[in-house]
Amino acid sequence: MLRRFFSYYRPWKGLFILDFCCAVLSGMLELGFPMAVKVFVDELLPTHQWLLILAASAGLLAVYVLNTGLMAVVVYWGHMLGINIETEMRRKSFDHLQKLSFRFYDNHKTGHLIARVTKDLEEIGEVAHHGPEDLFIAIMTFIGAFVLMFFVNAQLALITAAIVPLVAWVTSRYGARMTRNWQALYGRVGDFNVRIEENVGGMRVVQAFANEDHERNLFARDNASYRKTKLDAYRIMAASTSMSYMSMRLIQLVVMIAGSYLVLQGELTSGGFVGFLLLVNVFFRPIDKINSVIETYPKGIAGFRRYTALLDTEPDIADRPGAIEAPALKGDISYRDVTFGYSGERAVLKGINLDIAAGQTIAFVGPSGAGKTTLCSLLPRFYEVDSGAITIDGLDIRDMKLASLRGQIGIVQQDVFLFGGTIRENIAYGRLDAMESDIVEAARRAHLDELIASLPEGLDTIVGERGVKLSGGQKQRLAIARMFLKNPTILILDEATSALDTQTEREIQQSLAELAQGRTTLVIAHRLATIRNADRIVVVDETGIVEQGPHDELVARGGAYSRLGATPD
Ligand code: ADP
Ligand code: MG
Repeated sequence: MLRRFFSYYRPWKGLFILDFCCAVLSGMLELGFPMAVKVFVDELLPTHQWLLILAASAGLLAVYVLNTGLMAVVVYWGHMLGINIETEMRRKSFDHLQKLSFRFYDNHKTGHLIARVTKDLEEIGEVAHHGPEDLFIAIMTFIGAFVLMFFVNAQLALITAAIVPLVAWVTSRYGARMTRNWQALYGRVGDFNVRIEENVGGMRVVQAFANEDHERNLFARDNASYRKTKLDAYRIMAASTSMSYMSMRLIQLVVMIAGSYLVLQGELTSGGFVGFLLLVNVFFRPIDKINSVIETYPKGIAGFRRYTALLDTEPDIADRPGAIEAPALKGDISYRDVTFGYSGERAVLKGINLDIAAGQTIAFVGPSGAGKTTLCSLLPRFYEVDSGAITIDGLDIRDMKLASLRGQIGIVQQDVFLFGGTIRENIAYGRLDAMESDIVEAARRAHLDELIASLPEGLDTIVGERGVKLSGGQKQRLAIARMFLKNPTILILDEATSALDTQTEREIQQSLAELAQGRTTLVIAHRLATIRNADRIVVVDETGIVEQGPHDELVARGGAYSRLGATPD
């Protein structure tokens, strides 16, 4: 764990060493000041020479300036080290998110995932900067101060040291409680994110149901529990801060009494006395530092654990070793004994056998939940078959590189996901290196040109988050334009027009038919009018494929399909 953490320092070795050396030097100067005061009082003052005293002060000023510079370096370059590590980790986790499969996203909440890439990594960055350095400096000043105290007066040093275990005990007791508390707080922040993410994302639903009060109550509960956890943390912090202040002062008092006694006995100079008192401060300061490390460390480590857990989540769908770049596919699709279930307990598809010739249009009909979408999701390997195989042009899809396979399959679904940018950007998502003329052409073929011409901003019109500023039909046309640009060999239309009114649907059917030209097309539809012309219709239900054939044949047979046909279009 720690070794893995430190491996992130490797690329920034130079920065780390620079920061570290400056911090060590600054720590040593801090240690030097009490000794300077001792010399000042014991040696310089008795000479009664103002010039000497001023000269010494000037020397001290120079050291102060140096230390100020060092501190600036430590704060800036040290944080740069932290942010560099944080940036690298953020890049890695975002990269990894791109590789994880649909199944992973089925089972994880967006809010938690966002927290991982943002909040978690911020905490890690803090620890990455402060943790090791602070700890080292703390230990260094602790030991250094003790040696100097011993040098000034051994008896007094021993008395002071005797109190250390007590202070350490108090500190560690609070530290452990603090750790537990921070971990609890962590979970609460994640819950929070999820709650807000879902609420804001689903605001249209919330308001449509007039369920704002319900949402407020749920949020109030999370908010209150967050407050309580945080208050607990502050209570512990208050106790620990005041206790450490108290013990600090008590120690000072003890040292003052014992020190005064020694001065009166002539065993300690007054400079030594003052210097020693200052050293006591330096001696106990690291305990505060260690305290703050104890506070940030668990946060960082909890974040780092979650970060590594994410990175260690093996993508369950990835290129096989030896996978080949898919050749330009013709689109002969074959399902062989395909069995698949989302969970181990229940198979959604059992022993599916299906052949689709290149260039054909195959329609799937059947009740909702029969597994039509699932069947099509297996083709681009959004999910992996449990047994059996799917081949395209005789090649197992698992033997092709994912990107080269998916690059040749296009999907238009019922709800189109648009990104928050412009119409142009959303069309260009189909092929990122498309030229302006290609985008215009794709928009024309999707019959979007009229709409675009009517908009003052044209292609540069912002579609709003997820495309809220467009109508259902317009969004669907945008998805079709995107698909013209992508120009896939295999096309999946999953209830692409189901959400539209009949008039709009009819218009869009036209574009879809043009899009399907010359491609192997899998159509899922519940309005039978839209699939009458398919080369073959496959009727599925929970048991699997019930019957298949062209429209006329199935109607004539008078089986399941003809009974479906009874539903009005
Ligand atoms: P259809 O498209 O025919 O309406 P689906 O393929 O969407 O049916 O769903 C088939 C079955 O699989 C349903 O019982 C559904 O509840 C289940 N299912 C669909 N998607 C998931 C998923 N991501 N995780 C778990 N179960 C799912
Ligand atoms: Mg479906």
